[in-house]
Amino acid sequence: MTNHIDGNKVADRIKAELHSCIETLEQNDVTPGLATVLMSDDGASETYVSMKQQACDDIGIEGFHIEIPADAPEKRLLQRIEELNADPTVHGILVQMPVPDHVDESAVLEQVDPLHDVDGFHPENVGRLTTGNPRFKPCTPHGVQKLLEAADVDTEGKNVVIVGRSNIVGKPMMNLLVQKAENGNATVTVCHSRTEDLAAKTRQADIVIAAAGVPELIDESMLSEEAVVIDVGVNRVDTDTEKGYELVGDVEFESAKKKAAAITPVPGGVGPLTISMLLHNTIKAAALQEDVAVDL
Ligand code: NDP
Repeated sequence: MTNHIDGNKVADRIKAELHSCIETLEQNDVTPGLATVLMSDDGASETYVSMKQQACDDIGIEGFHIEIPADAPEKRLLQRIEELNADPTVHGILVQMPVPDHVDESAVLEQVDPLHDVDGFHPENVGRLTTGNPRFKPCTPHGVQKLLEAADVDTEGKNVVIVGRSNIVGKPMMNLLVQKAENGNATVTVCHSRTEDLAAKTRQADIVIAAAGVPELIDESMLSEEAVVIDVGVNRVDTDTEKGYELVGDVEFESAKKKAAAITPVPGGVGPLTISMLLHNTIKAAALQEDVAVDL
């Protein structure tokens, strides 16, 4: 029978472990603080930010929420980030992506002080990850590693196919899995929209990680017997329901689950882990900045 990997369960266990780190920080008079910055009118971005703030509240991280009008000049966002870098109560800064078209995304990512960069997207942190000395592992790929670990999937020597090469999911996922390190040591193939015969690639994989943002791109016919399938995709598909839409992954869950040895659902798979690993990174940022030893 297919083994469903329950992301909520794994995320809850990680949050319980993080709780003791927060207690250690509190014993040293440190309350970790996370600033979320939203410069967008997009409903999905608003939802993601409020979920992150709620998770902070639940665990005892102080949340600061900053909204900048979507039509404000880039300079205003950069100045606000600079102020947050200097604020001693703020240990982590997360700028919700995407930013509006008139704002240079790279300039924003570089403006966040690397020690506050809980997303792990600053070039300094990307460089550290790539060279095998990570400070903040990007939340979603780190969460995928945690899911694999919780499902007792050893990545060492495995063929992993990642579908998607974005800077926030695909590429850091590759960088984590190829490292000569725990939960790494995999042989990784990264596919994208120019990949020829995607199915031939995914069929050779022991582990498929789908992060393309294409609803149900991968079905049973594209998987090997006993493949482990991690579905990062979150896609809104219009329906006749009261809500008007449903969320589906990049994997056709109903067919894929018949073949896969283990598979994550959408929702309830990778998403909860992304938030847990953000909390993890915020606690790590506080510990680093305040020079407190925590067990992370
Ligand atoms: P991007 O749009 O930045 O990247 C998508 C990648 O998929 C690109 O590399 C693109 O190729 C590739 N791709 C697109 N279509 C195909 C195709 N038909 N075949 C093969 N490759 C394809 O997306 P993100 O990385 O930001 O996100 C991916 C998905 O993950 C989205 O659904 C997003 O909502 C979700 N997500 C979920 C998170 C969670 O916590 N669960 C967190 C972050 C993202 P190319 O580079 O050639 O364009």
